[in-house]
Amino acid sequence: MINKEFLIKYEEFSSLQEMNEKDRALAQAAIDAAKGSYSPYSHFQVGAALLLENGVLVKGANQENAAYPAGLCAERTAMFWAGANYPGVPFDTLAVAGHDHGVLCESPSSPCGGCRQVMAEYQKKAGRPLNVILVGSRRILKFRQVDDLLPFIFASLKVE
Ligand SMILES: [Zn+2]
Repeated sequence: MINKEFLIKYEEFSSLQEMNEKDRALAQAAIDAAKGSYSPYSHFQVGAALLLENGVLVKGANQENAAYPAGLCAERTAMFWAGANYPGVPFDTLAVAGHDHGVLCESPSSPCGGCRQVMAEYQKKAGRPLNVILVGSRRILKFRQVDDLLPFIFASLKVE
């Protein structure tokens, strides 16, 4: 038996002002995208802003439904829309911002497992890392690849 460790790297910022211009604009776009949320049940509004490699910015927001499982997360509304309308165009960076009753959460909202898996697949398909930015009002996290949010990704698992 061998004990092993898995190192996860990410950057942490205390405000949007600390970020570079590109990431700051994307984080702000995620905050703005939450206005498109339909969340009468959870009152938790999530915005997602997805920058494609061709420079196109796609926004998404969570959509709920009385038949609960029929809803969809902000991240997936953005990724699926981009996948459908810009097939084959790699994703560059995805920013996510959660709001509780309309107020940006202090801590970054972390994507659910289903969204992480979808991110992983688009990253693999593109053959390049997908950056992920999780936006909170007091803390912003940036991950350079989906692998750091979803270790041992399904379909790319290699035991070494
Ligand atoms: Zn999700």
